[in-house]
Order: sequence, then C-alpha cells, then structure tokens
Amino acid sequence: MNNNQAMPPETHRFKLGTFDVVVVRDGARVAPNPGEIFGTNQKPEDVAALLEKNFLPTDSLVNSFAPTLINTGSDVVLFDTGLGEGARKDGMGRLIEGLAANGYSPDDVSIVVVTHMHGDHIGGLMEAGAPAFPKARYVIGQAEYDFWKDDARKGTAAENGHNLVLKNVVPLAEKATFIGDNAEVVTGITSMMAAGHTPGHMIFLIESDGKQMALTADTANHYVLSLQQPDWEVRFDMDKAAAAQARRKVFDMIATDRLAFVGYHMPFPAVGFVETVGTGYRFVPKTYQFEL
Ligand SMILES: [Zn+2]
Repeated sequence: MNNNQAMPPETHRFKLGTFDVVVVRDGARVAPNPGEIFGTNQKPEDVAALLEKNFLPTDSLVNSFAPTLINTGSDVVLFDTGLGEGARKDGMGRLIEGLAANGYSPDDVSIVVVTHMHGDHIGGLMEAGAPAFPKARYVIGQAEYDFWKDDARKGTAAENGHNLVLKNVVPLAEKATFIGDNAEVVTGITSMMAAGHTPGHMIFLIESDGKQMALTADTANHYVLSLQQPDWEVRFDMDKAAAAQARRKVFDMIATDRLAFVGYHMPFPAVGFVETVGTGYRFVPKTYQFEL
C-alpha cells in the first residue's frame, strides 16, 4: 500500500470526451478476514478459494477509496469526499492533497455530489468545522438524506452514521439540491438510483462528446468478491437482497453497453470495464482506452 505521507497520494487523470476526470486515492485500509465482510452467507472456505483463484491473499484484503472530480468546462463537480481530516493520522483523507497535485484547489469545486452517506464518502465534506469546499453547492439524494437525518436512527446500528450526517451534511443542506432517480446534475451528468447498499445509494452516468462512463460508487465493493459473486452477501450492504439486485442491474448494463466505470472501491485507479463470466462479472482494468 502507498500510504507514505511524504509522497503525494496517487492520482489518475484522463479525458472523457471534453471532460477532465481526476481520480484521487484518498487512502486505503487493510481489513482482516475477508469472509467476515464478503460472502457472509457462504462457507469461509469458498470465499478463500475464490480469492486464491484470483491470486489474492485469503487472510486480509485492501479497501481503497477513490473520490472523483469531473471538470465539464462549466462546472467542477466532485463526487464524494473521502474519509476527511479524522483519518489523516492513519495516512488517509488525502483528497484535497491529490486535487492540489492536479491543479485544483477546494475553491475551484462548484458542485459536490454525494452518492451516499457512509463515512468514507462524506467524511471530507467538512474541514475544521467549516465546509471543505467553500464555494460549492451540493447535490444530495433525497431518500438517503431523509433516512440518515431521521431521529429514528438513534439507538440503532445506524446511529453513528446519523451523528456523522448531523455533523457533516445537515449544516450544508441549505446549499443543497435534493434529487432522486434520473435527475440531471449538469449537462452530461445524470443520476440513477441503485439502492440497497444504503437506502438512497445512487450512481451517475457521465456523457461528453459521445463518450460515456458510469460512476458506480459502492454498488460493488470488491473487484473479485462483489463482481464475480454479485449475489454473495456483504456486511456493508444495509439491504442485502436489494444491493445484490442493484449490482446485477448496474453491471448487466455496464457489461452489455461495454461502458467504462469508476468504482469507488475498485483497485486504483478504480477505472475499468466488466465482462460477463458465468453468473457474474470479471473486472477488466483500464489501460490506454482514453488516450486514443
Ligand atoms: Zn464506500
């Protein structure tokens, strides 16, 4: 892992049509016992066997975070904000540094889009008690906001998430537009509901000059375990059946349309394609497709 804080974080920049896309590796975390996160309804030896078959260790996995900036020429749109200041002592929360290395300051961001409200996506919205992107307005899913903001989350497994939303999202609500399925964020950027991981989880379809791409956020959280076995249950998915259904719907579309996608937790630079193999999908990392 490259969490070396003396070096700038890894970033990856490419053109989609006329849009400038910058993917930043906000950080990465090692988790033990993959079978306690992915395939929780499977035999541990089956999870281990799939990892081994894919040349991966069976005792731990790496989860990395890839917030993405898209400059459309008229707007600078940031999708999710990484873990933020609270994770910096552990070498994460490096979004702002990564943007700076590509010539973007926090003041340049005109719109922040929130795909869903887990801490690795909204942790970087605030910085020292103030908005981290001071000139931005926000585009937020209505269903997601309504769920996490609700006092009914107190005393449930979602209480920590509720508290983080009160701290990081509620103060920004007056500058937010609340959206649902099939909403246009700006020309060329459209929302699509893909709920299950969280109640209002959304993905985004991007189009510029005839070129297309999807930002799939947390529809799939591991490039092998979630994609090759989309029906396996994942601890992070709040509604496991709906999440599996969303994975199938989104990655069937991506495979059929041969779309490129950025997946927030795919191996950095988190950009690739999928092909259908058996009853699942195989992740095909991008190479030079955007250079030609
Ligand atoms: Zn996530």
